Amino acid sequence: MLNKLLRPNVRGLTPYDSGPSAGIKLDANENPFPWPEKALAEIAEATAAAPGFNRYPDGAATELRAELGERLDLRREQVLVGNGADELIAVVLQTFGGPAQALLVQPPTFSMYGVLAAVTDTPLIEVPLQAEGQELDPDGIRRACRENLVSVIIVCNPNNPTGALFPRPLLADLLTSCGALVVVDEAYGEFAGPETSMMPYIGKYQNLLVMKTFSKAYGMAGLRLGYICGTAEAIALLNRVRQTYNVNVFTQRAGRAALRHSAAFAEQIAALRAETEKLYLGLRALPGLKVWPTRANFVLFQPRNAVAWGEALRQRGIAVRVFARLPVLGPCLRVSAGRPEETALFLRAAAELSAQGEPFQQTNAD
Ligand SMILES: *Cc1c(COP(=O)(O)O)cnc(C)c1O
Repeated sequence: MLNKLLRPNVRGLTPYDSGPSAGIKLDANENPFPWPEKALAEIAEATAAAPGFNRYPDGAATELRAELGERLDLRREQVLVGNGADELIAVVLQTFGGPAQALLVQPPTFSMYGVLAAVTDTPLIEVPLQAEGQELDPDGIRRACRENLVSVIIVCNPNNPTGALFPRPLLADLLTSCGALVVVDEAYGEFAGPETSMMPYIGKYQNLLVMKTFSKAYGMAGLRLGYICGTAEAIALLNRVRQTYNVNVFTQRAGRAALRHSAAFAEQIAALRAETEKLYLGLRALPGLKVWPTRANFVLFQPRNAVAWGEALRQRGIAVRVFARLPVLGPCLRVSAGRPEETALFLRAAAELSAQGEPFQQTNAD
């Protein structure tokens, strides 16, 4: 009965399942370090003194947006905050997508783009990455934009899950040649470095939006805070659609504290870059694995039987992200940078599994 009443685009959807986890959590690209003590003390004190839980939040997140703008050299009107970047992707598609105009993405990439396209009834056009997931196909993207009404292109840079970084001139090229809004998702931008960001190009291109999140580098995945920047005009359009009170009182407070203590987070980011390098080199040293270079805080790799590896790691108490079948690349695993002792445990387990070689893979293959 209910099935017949469902919106057609919802019929084929299945709820997102992040998969089973384990004690050592290297499956979601989170920051594994504790929050800087001073930042924590600051929000604890502010919350004890005046929690503000009984009042609606400042729907415009005035102070948080002003402080973000200050750091980014943008005006407050050029910044919009959301309940995680995921919400902002939905807002972009609710504003610029819909049944008559398509979203273009480049698989393998962040799976939420496809999910939110389906939820907002926006057709999805996929132009696969080239060179085993390491390069964009600008000609393919331009061709798809000529042949279809594409209103939004999302480029994930660095890309999740391949770790590839796309050069800025190439993105600038898409901005001038596609006639679409280009959203650059820089969820992992802090790990790639400021010189890779499209943020300085805001204002130069009317159709550029740059999206970021506090979930990864800033260790706030549990509090849900993302932001998107563009021209004041573009942000005003998104603001028509956004839920009035989308970022709660506590998260706004925490976001401002994170910004005040960004030096402490910079140290964590540097440490995570070092851990990522260890993961990459450690996996590269093992026989029988394909390992992708990365500019983010995770490494994508491919043993001969990725699904069995994922399960064997889980039995050793280590959760990695298992992709049973990535577009273009097939079965792969993605491991996030953890604390140094976690990296060491993971690499030891990976060495064991790699040493077991074929018999391990055959017994587990079905
Ligand atoms: C994690 C992630 C996000 C979502 O971040 P939230 O702010 O936690 O919603 C967005 N884009 C990419 C590519 C991500 O990996």
